[in-house]
Amino acid sequence: MERYTVHKVIGEGSFGRALLVQCKSTKEKYVVKEIQLPKNQSKFDSTRREAILLSKLKHPNIVAFWEAFEADDLLCIVMEYCGGGDLLQRIQQQKTVQFCVDDILKWFSQMCAGAKHIHDKRVLHRDLKSKNIFLTDNGTIKLGDFGSACILNSSKAYAHAYVGTPYYVAPEIWDNKPYNNKSDVWSLGCVLYELCTLRHPFQAPSWKSLILKVCRGTYPPLPNHLPYELQYLVKQMFKTNPKDRPSLHTILTSHRVSRLLRTHL
Ligand code: ADP
Ligand code: MG
Repeated sequence: MERYTVHKVIGEGSFGRALLVQCKSTKEKYVVKEIQLPKNQSKFDSTRREAILLSKLKHPNIVAFWEAFEADDLLCIVMEYCGGGDLLQRIQQQKTVQFCVDDILKWFSQMCAGAKHIHDKRVLHRDLKSKNIFLTDNGTIKLGDFGSACILNSSKAYAHAYVGTPYYVAPEIWDNKPYNNKSDVWSLGCVLYELCTLRHPFQAPSWKSLILKVCRGTYPPLPNHLPYELQYLVKQMFKTNPKDRPSLHTILTSHRVSRLLRTHL
């Protein structure tokens, strides 16, 4: 850590802290995610997984990995700093002013490009939500927080289906089925809906009624002024059977929506 000057704490969670730092020699800014290393060996390995997975993912729409090191009982992951903050903050800043269609499509297509890269590497993110999607100073989307990610078809992915933030969790997870690439697609559908309405698609006063809505796939319709292709896309992404949901490859290449998205990539 001697090579970096700590500027401030930008996030605090169960894992530890996220710090904004500056490299003393290059003056470049980074984020250091400090994660408490557990004493138990199997947990120790799963903690390291975040750094290992992130180091393997290189894409313009994924937070860039810089380096990782262990200091005392902390694992420090040094990564690209996204000065535009997270997408949840950005959505909340709007208060009630809707985003323009161009911004929605630009951000969404960048998210899909990043997520497709992850899936192509047989990695599942498993915690896609507006709080884990960042913006750079120049407004480029970066997917971040790989703390829940796993490798597809590994025994871990099947052993216990991970349950992320309830608003974004796909119906199959509530049904105790394994997490799969289409579950990430569902979560991205929730983010797309949030961008279109500034609200969650599935909201309820209790867990029970939330899960019921998710499993039935019932959500308030999108405002009429949005292009038909967007309404169609949201409908496809919220198919309750994961087999009926498009993959990211399909979203980015299928004729109906891809033309709309490609012009914004
Ligand atoms: P967790 O959700 O596991 O606590 P995150 O990796 O999502 O950890 O980081 C927590 C918070 O720190 C984020 O919600 C965000 O506000 C901030 N943060 C994390 N990484 C970055 C980054 N690369 N650039 C800017 N802010 C970040
Ligand atoms: Mg997070």
